[in-house]
Amino acid sequence: MSEKSVGQQMFDKLSYKKKNIYEEASSEKIKAIFDYSKGYMKYLDDSKTEREAVCAAIELAKQKGYTEYKIGDKISVGDKKYLNHHDKSLVLFSVGDNDIERDGIRILAAHVDSPRLDLKQVPMYEDAGMAFLKTHYYGGVKKYQWTAIPLALHGVMVKADGEAVEVKIGEEEGDPIFYINDLLPHLGQKQSAETLGNAISGETLNILIGGLPYDDKEVSDKIKLTALSLLNEKYGVTEEDFLSAELSLVPAYKARDIGFDRALVAAYGHDDKVCSYPAVTALLDNPDTKRTVMVVLADKEEIGSVGITGMQCEVFMDVIDEISASLGKNSRVVRNNSKCLSADVTACYDPNFPDVYEKRNSAMISCGTTMSKYTGARGKSSTNDASAEFVGYIRKLFADNGVIWQTAELGKVDAGGGGTVAMYIANHNIETVDLGVPVISMHAPYEVVSKADVYSTYEAFVAFVK
Ligand code: MN
Ligand code: MN
Repeated sequence: MSEKSVGQQMFDKLSYKKKNIYEEASSEKIKAIFDYSKGYMKYLDDSKTEREAVCAAIELAKQKGYTEYKIGDKISVGDKKYLNHHDKSLVLFSVGDNDIERDGIRILAAHVDSPRLDLKQVPMYEDAGMAFLKTHYYGGVKKYQWTAIPLALHGVMVKADGEAVEVKIGEEEGDPIFYINDLLPHLGQKQSAETLGNAISGETLNILIGGLPYDDKEVSDKIKLTALSLLNEKYGVTEEDFLSAELSLVPAYKARDIGFDRALVAAYGHDDKVCSYPAVTALLDNPDTKRTVMVVLADKEEIGSVGITGMQCEVFMDVIDEISASLGKNSRVVRNNSKCLSADVTACYDPNFPDVYEKRNSAMISCGTTMSKYTGARGKSSTNDASAEFVGYIRKLFADNGVIWQTAELGKVDAGGGGTVAMYIANHNIETVDLGVPVISMHAPYEVVSKADVYSTYEAFVAFVK
């Protein structure tokens, strides 16, 4: 091989280029990446809703000795606790020896809700020999993607006496699934001429649940009655119990490897379990850290981080206040010296849709966990724009720990935009930057990530918390 020219050597030294992790990795590293993804894929299959994701994370934490914490409990150095907030959001924390006024708390904040179809409160009806459930979609969905695919029903119904029953149908082998009808192309001439956003309306997203009439000539809605009687048999519920229920339709797909080489993973809900799982495991795999570390799994990010389980709820700051008070520290000083990685996904550059991306500033698949200094839309509005100093700090941390990473904007300027929980954390005077996994087909019923990017995100979080 001929030696590089002086100019080429200088170019290599002075210019910046992203690295593909699979190109850089040893065979042991690739094995570690693939092994880690197995745990992640199990977590995905166990965690289709925020309630299930919270349960699964609590299980993992309990295995590492974490015990339940309730607001107001006294906290001591060495404690490893979890706050289960209304079964839908979770705070895990481990209190280290370091002075938290000096070092602050290291926070990883991800979300566990994903776009889906929620049932309306009076959902059930029958028409033309079929029974259906009405839905109202949750989060940003492309409605046409949800027709003609297998769906599973997940959630909870609270009965008249206050008892809550858990519902989960469509995940087990042999379970029935649910379905949304679509129009045959033969009669789809008018539908095909519609814009993509209008071809399927919100009120068309009706869930097909049955077709067997109840054996009684006098009853008017016989198929609906069959469904109600089966639900009553299995769960002891009546139609009125739908009034106090949270039931969601999610894709009945399991997480699967993609491609001949299995480098990528398809699953429902990568956004944002793909950052939640690395956040939780980074904490649990580093029990000896001297730092105080907090992992937040928030709900309601997909609809604006609102409500009691969303990131805008004060409870997350209450935990910081409570830790500070228990240790005799000033929580304002603690927050001032805390650092947060807002752990959320970003759009991955897709060569099938090059028009919406600016390639130099897009996340490239398998090039590592991706920092978004800012998100937002239309002139950076509604974003936490992290400082050069904080980005510099994280950059050095990753360099010192051999983390391959990249930066990205969501897409072209003025092509659209999006937000994360970052700005709500920054509002509390906590330095924050977005970091997470690039996703192909984000918010589709079946999304795609690279196993290398999942593992890189895990390595980044480990470097941050250790
Ligand atoms: Mn997200
Ligand atoms: Mn999202």
